Amino acid sequence: MNFNHNSNFCSIVWFRADLRISDNPALSAAVKSDRPCIALFVLPTDKNEKSELKKWELPSARPTYGSAGRWWLLRSLERLRQELAALKIPLLILEGVESEVIKNFREVFPSAFFYWNRRYDPVGVAFDTKLKQELKENDRLGGSFKGNLLNEPWEITNGSGEAYKVFTPFWKAVQKRPMSAMAAIAAPKSNNTEPQNQVFDHFVKPNSSEMSGLKFYKSSAAEKAWTSKIHKHWSSFEMLPQKFLEVFLREKLTVYREGRNTPSLGSTSSLSPFLRFGEISPRQILAKVFAFEKVSTFSELSENAYCFLSEICWRDFSYSILFNYKSIDTMPIKSNFSDFPWEQNENHFLLWKQGNTGYPIVDAGMRELWQTGLMHNRVRMIVASFLVKHLRLPWTWGESWFWDTLVDACPASNPASWQWVTGCGLDAAPYFRIFNPISQGQKFDPAGTYVKKWVPELSLLSAKQVHTPWLADEVDLRRAKIKMGLDYPFPVVDHASARVKALSGFQKIRGNDVSSSAHETDV
Ligand code: FAD
Repeated sequence: MNFNHNSNFCSIVWFRADLRISDNPALSAAVKSDRPCIALFVLPTDKNEKSELKKWELPSARPTYGSAGRWWLLRSLERLRQELAALKIPLLILEGVESEVIKNFREVFPSAFFYWNRRYDPVGVAFDTKLKQELKENDRLGGSFKGNLLNEPWEITNGSGEAYKVFTPFWKAVQKRPMSAMAAIAAPKSNNTEPQNQVFDHFVKPNSSEMSGLKFYKSSAAEKAWTSKIHKHWSSFEMLPQKFLEVFLREKLTVYREGRNTPSLGSTSSLSPFLRFGEISPRQILAKVFAFEKVSTFSELSENAYCFLSEICWRDFSYSILFNYKSIDTMPIKSNFSDFPWEQNENHFLLWKQGNTGYPIVDAGMRELWQTGLMHNRVRMIVASFLVKHLRLPWTWGESWFWDTLVDACPASNPASWQWVTGCGLDAAPYFRIFNPISQGQKFDPAGTYVKKWVPELSLLSAKQVHTPWLADEVDLRRAKIKMGLDYPFPVVDHASARVKALSGFQKIRGNDVSSSAHETDV
């Protein structure tokens, strides 16, 4: 096959959140088209360059990727470039405003056919819908495909054709789908002929071995120091999603259901950043789990595998919420929450971000996040509940901090989960259920192993004291080399009175007395 530069007759695979070559229907279809293939990725220049991340500061405008996500994305792209090179498909990485980049690109390649896997966020959907129409009119639409979910939002609906608002029936409906609808496909075999270099004169050279020339890559000294910590954490692993899945199936699956709530066990898969950027697909995970258990239906799965796949489906459910409710990062789905009397206390927000609230399990989670770009799910729930209910800070503040610091920051799961914890989302925990950060710590980190790992100043306290260091007596504190208020802070708010204030705020938006139904929870 010869690449004919003059005709520009080629297939463009526009990669977005699907940075892999297997189970990538857009790529497979483009290769099958028998036209020369070029892969494209657009790096958005929406980063507010003036407000480079200073320690503990958020960028002033929400960028397409947060700082940690950007770090992860660049390493994913480098790997994708190598995988595509083995198929002789060059990867073009273009920077700019998406609409302008695509417009320019189409001018340079007027005869190109476009292929992509669908996305589900409102801006992406609107853009793709318009582009699809234009390409169709010019007979240049290669195709758009399902590549990033087990099932697309419109595939799982109730009897009236509406999206489910509650997870359990959603999950039951998924189990009734034919397995063929959720089957992964193999990587294509390409006989692509690498396009000649002059084709790319307008663009970044495809073969440059590193991407540091890209504007997107430039970061402040503070951000570099921070991401190098994250880099250090992750570089101790072999960064292949298949490896993570293999280790998970072999070593952790048998204890997943119970173990997934104990942060010190590390018994979850850590696949979330790979899923976020599409380095592995949920269909590939589903296939591997079924093959590992040697079963062919959901009902034959072990309890642990069933529970794990239900979590994978929570991701689909979050995308269904994003698709159907749109601006979920800013607008509460239960609109009465817009009137909640949130506190605008910047100082409390800073203490939360730094992991200096004086509640050990909260501080451990926030420090884990800062050091690794990840946080255990149980602890995400605890720290989010603490921000919203104990500090009564707007949930959108917490969501934005997670967006900037999580390597798996996901446009669907992050806001949907924040709304879930707050009580304003779909199928949400009721607002009046208030996590007690002390008993949550005692229950899910009974020996204090997780707290001691991330808050080492508490490491010499006993298991009994580690979740309430302010109650330890002088002798024990001295023995543990802690001066309260100096080495570790006193609690920023008192749990009991914070709880009362949260309930009274909730009463204001509820308009009736909830105190009788109000209870703490350790669920
Ligand atoms: P595992 O337990 O191994 O689960 C496997 C996969 O299932 C995960 O990788 C993930 O893709 C999916 N999954 C698991 N739990 C959930 C869930 N509750 N909701 C949606 N998908 C889930 N997850 C993200 O991927 N990105 C986010 O930005 C994100 N933000 C969150 C914010 C808050 C406040 C909370 C409470 C949860 C958030 N989650 C988010 C969900 C969950 O915490 C992570 O998916 C999980 O901790 C990732 O670890 P893991 O891969 O080891 O999970």
